Amino acid sequence: MDCRNHACNTYSGNAEVKVKPIPPSQGEGGMIKKMNERKDKKKGIAQSPSLREGRGGLLVVLGAGESGTGTAVLAKKKGFEVFVSDKGEIKDKYRKVLSHHRIAYEEGKHTKSMILNADEVVKSPGIPDTSAMIVELKRKKIPIISEIEFAARYIPQNSETKLIGITGTNGKTTTTSLVYHILKNAGYNVGLGGNIGKSFAMMVAKGGYDYYVLELSSFQLDDMFKARINIAILTNITPDHLDRYDYKLQNYVNSKFRITQNQTKEDAFIYCADDEITEKEVKKRRFKAQLFPYSLKKKVKQGAFLTKNKINIHINQHQTPITMFVEQLALQGRHNIYNSMAAGIASRLVDVRKSEIRESLSDFQNIEHRLEFVSKVHGVDYINDSKATNVNSTWYALESMSHPTVWIVGGVDKGNDYNMLKDLVKQHVKAIVCLGVDNKKIIKAFSKLVPTIVQTQSANDAVKAASRLATKGDTILLSPCCASFDLFDNYEERGRMFKQAVRSL
Ligand code: ADP
Repeated sequence: MDCRNHACNTYSGNAEVKVKPIPPSQGEGGMIKKMNERKDKKKGIAQSPSLREGRGGLLVVLGAGESGTGTAVLAKKKGFEVFVSDKGEIKDKYRKVLSHHRIAYEEGKHTKSMILNADEVVKSPGIPDTSAMIVELKRKKIPIISEIEFAARYIPQNSETKLIGITGTNGKTTTTSLVYHILKNAGYNVGLGGNIGKSFAMMVAKGGYDYYVLELSSFQLDDMFKARINIAILTNITPDHLDRYDYKLQNYVNSKFRITQNQTKEDAFIYCADDEITEKEVKKRRFKAQLFPYSLKKKVKQGAFLTKNKINIHINQHQTPITMFVEQLALQGRHNIYNSMAAGIASRLVDVRKSEIRESLSDFQNIEHRLEFVSKVHGVDYINDSKATNVNSTWYALESMSHPTVWIVGGVDKGNDYNMLKDLVKQHVKAIVCLGVDNKKIIKAFSKLVPTIVQTQSANDAVKAASRLATKGDTILLSPCCASFDLFDNYEERGRMFKQAVRSL
């Protein structure tokens, strides 16, 4: 997940209003004047061009981050009038793209009169439905969609082009990157984007891919209505982001399952059969797509399962399965066996050869901040798992520790229940280094299990403290279980500072 799930630009609360409604190339009053004229016309008979009929119309894009800018460029290319509005400050790189494409935009405010004139609105996934602008748009029954929905309209149906979408509470980026790596290595014409890397809309605007591998957050799925995901992967579901779902888990579950909503019998739904919430929901629903579960606990008819320490991937009972020893997987840890299985099934479904899948699953370079090996210093391994911002992901990190571990944990607690970590902490953790402003909950949860707990407030101090507590053969693991905003800009900065501190030991 990256910052486009948070309202980075759009609702940054930037008090300093910096308005730049028209890029210089538009000339005085250009686009905005035209829009106001359209508004006047709209007051009379219903003349507004229908977007659905492909005759252009005014598309308003709320939020000029990666997805908003991509949408604006694609829409402009497709002949719409486009207006981009961002309540915060637009990053330089996106401002340049908008100006280059002569797209009208404003920043530091939302001009209501302009936005409410839209035929359709594409909103950044970071903007909650409860925001005043969205409430007003809904009241006026102006359709609001996500960038994914908009861009998918330009993927020809029944063509060779395939959308592979990956969602889940944890494991999205890893699984998305794995699928992309396998397809790319196999020589496929494939693009990677969605919630990571480039926006889907920008890729479509530039054109030319046969396969799009898309990481999809629940926020992106929420405003997706007709887009058809040919191969959908759901990695797992644990309670997260519930503030956006009325604190109801079922609402969040429903959001995740939207990934399957327009699938047909030619499509595939790949999911983790060991995930209780997912499994329960699968039993409640009917699917048009073919189901491909994967499991470490039970054998499945089609999908993937484990026999001793070998994974078996088979999508068709008439073919011999792909088999591979767990030790051969580039990504270690139980969660990564799941991710590798999911990626293996998806790749097999688009006919990547077995040998190529095996090869790619074993030579994949891990992504930064996810159980990333940093260095061995004085016989101690340092691992950066800064991306673990919830209990579930840290559970998998602790579970994969095979040596006594000094655990660096802490930050902004999103309502963590540490009970599920207690057994693993007992088994693996010899000392805890808290890295956060308020560590009371962590200390309370683990003080009876771990003899040494120290508190620090910088990556440097945390690494120094941990190195003093570790002896040769130990592992020092940064897996914070918490968001980073108390001491860092984001999890990436926390991970980078950790690595820097390790390297300067
Ligand atoms: P996301 O993109 O969904 O946030 P990532 O692939 O970036 O997920 O992984 C984030 C963290 O979640 C990793 O640090 C790892 O510890 C944990 N994780 C990865 N895959 C899984 C999985 N399948 N199940 C549970 N936890 C996982």
